[in-house]
Amino acid sequence: MASRPPNRLSPRLALFLLAAVAVLAVVVALVWPPVAPVGMGAGGGEAPPAVAGGGPVPSASFDATEEPPPRVAIVFDDLGRDLAAADRLLATGEAITFSVLPFLPHSQETAERVHAAGEGVLLHLPMEPQAYPRLRPGRGGLLVAMDEATLRGQLDEDLAAVPFIDGVNNHMGSRLTEEATPMAVVMEALAARHLFFLDSRTTPHSVAVEAAERAGVPWLVRDLFLDNDQHPEAIAAQFDKLIDLALTRGHAIAIGHPHPATLDALEAALPRLHEAGIAVVPLADLLPRGEAMWSPSSP
Ligand SMILES: [Zn+2]
Repeated sequence: MASRPPNRLSPRLALFLLAAVAVLAVVVALVWPPVAPVGMGAGGGEAPPAVAGGGPVPSASFDATEEPPPRVAIVFDDLGRDLAAADRLLATGEAITFSVLPFLPHSQETAERVHAAGEGVLLHLPMEPQAYPRLRPGRGGLLVAMDEATLRGQLDEDLAAVPFIDGVNNHMGSRLTEEATPMAVVMEALAARHLFFLDSRTTPHSVAVEAAERAGVPWLVRDLFLDNDQHPEAIAAQFDKLIDLALTRGHAIAIGHPHPATLDALEAALPRLHEAGIAVVPLADLLPRGEAMWSPSSP
């Protein structure tokens, strides 16, 4: 038998090819040309810190070449007293960031567990508050009255007391973070260790960001505290604010404390964050890219 003449199929084949080319053309037209990069590397770390009461402002600089899904970092401070709160936070399976005070009974073990679970650890660095000495920052606290050598020595001990840290945020510090000289000492030490700084922003007059900029330390600023008021409705309202800020600005940083009410509110809020399409990411993921002098994951 003679094979089917090839020209019997060719009209169909031609039609198919024509359709394929048309589809390809439409696809190319939709994705081409690529969006031009916006503001790459411009003005980076000069972004103003977030200040309470203002509208959405950047808490760090961003490489805006593409729009990632909204992201939040949720930092839990004051950890190390016991293991129960850290274990409950780890059980959420979320990328919570754990900030551990030095020299507490379970500081070391908390950091080890968090690191083993693959989550981020910060040193929660105690600093002098305005209400000192009525209110004390605890063991390892940096005080305004310390001379530079004493400050440096205390800082070395504090940084060595919590393993696996990739950054630092201040515990209290409404007095010390207003002082340029001790903050310069702090930032020099962080720069030498390739650590970043999160300003907990316990005073509107903090000079932490300026000091970090000068020392070349990557920095971030806390947007909101979750539990200054520990009533369940108040904490839930703070989570609402966190969601709004993440949706309008693309990213947001919250700090909470291991109070039972805050842990309850977190567990209730996580499904709402997911429904809103917001990802909980390690704090280090929100660091500015491009301007940073090193990658936070580098050794
Ligand atoms: Zn604290």
